[in-house]
Amino acid sequence: MSEKKIEYIEKVLDKGYIEVVDMLGDDLTPVNAARVSFGGRSDKFTDKDRRLSKFLIKHKHFSPFRHQHVMMIIKAPEFVMRQWYKHVVGIETTSDHPTKDHAWNEISGRYVEYSDFYMPKNFRAQSDDNKQASEGLVGDQAKAEKLWREAQGNSISAYEKMIDMGMAKEQARSILPLTVYTQVWWTASFQSIMNFIELRDEATAQVEIQEYARALKKIMLEIFPETTKLWQEVYWDKAE
Ligand SMILES: Cc1cc2nc3c(=O)[nH]c(=O)nc-3n(C[C@H](O)[C@H](O)[C@H](O)COP(=O)(O)OP(=O)(O)OC[C@H]3O[C@@H](n4cnc5c(N)ncnc54)[C@H](O)[C@@H]3O)c2cc1C
Repeated sequence: MSEKKIEYIEKVLDKGYIEVVDMLGDDLTPVNAARVSFGGRSDKFTDKDRRLSKFLIKHKHFSPFRHQHVMMIIKAPEFVMRQWYKHVVGIETTSDHPTKDHAWNEISGRYVEYSDFYMPKNFRAQSDDNKQASEGLVGDQAKAEKLWREAQGNSISAYEKMIDMGMAKEQARSILPLTVYTQVWWTASFQSIMNFIELRDEATAQVEIQEYARALKKIMLEIFPETTKLWQEVYWDKAE
């Protein structure tokens, strides 16, 4: 990884965040990687590099965008992480094994007692035209919040009591709701992160993962400004 140490945290939801731990490469990396074909290299990102980068993105010459990596810590509710884990292509680019080496590591509820749980700000109604989406809010917010708090409180309380009586954490955790916050390390290539943002910062994705995708987009615009803006121009702005 690069010597450049960066500190970057984006808060997401009530207790979650994405923290950049390290990164590899910069906006020049993909253009220089592409220029190896004819033995060229630049030291400063100029309009020429912008044009080449846009050409590569537009014509799906994606391999140069797998030299830029981001190493991050994600704290997210379990139901969000379950969706994130479906993104199996991270940094490994040579094997054709379906799960590849995507550099995920996660906190273990066998070692650590869970203590953070997601509490939504409001309670959304089921969408009529999209079976997996939400639309608007349920009418009785107070009742929804009461039901949520009761159910969540009951399972957390049972979990804590079972641990107090000596039950193994690996078994007691099975009673916890999907709102439990988990923490993972994820290292992924620029291309893989762009794919995640494209699929998850999108109206049909689950609202909570959309928030993570937007936070990650903000981070990418900060740490790879030129490459991310060009990707946005070529793909995302067109989709809007
Ligand atoms: C709105 C929404 C709803 C969803 N609903 C469901 C659901 O109900 N159930 C469910 O199981 N999943 C669901 N998913 C997850 C979805 O099917 C994908 O698994 C997930 O979005 C990861 O996308 P990906 O495969 O592009 O990502 P990655 O795994 O990161 O793959 C990146 C890219 O690499 C290429 N690639 C990856 N693997 C291969 C391979 N073996 N061979 C060739 N090329 C490959 C593809 O071009 C792919 O786009 C949903 C996703 C979204 C966005």
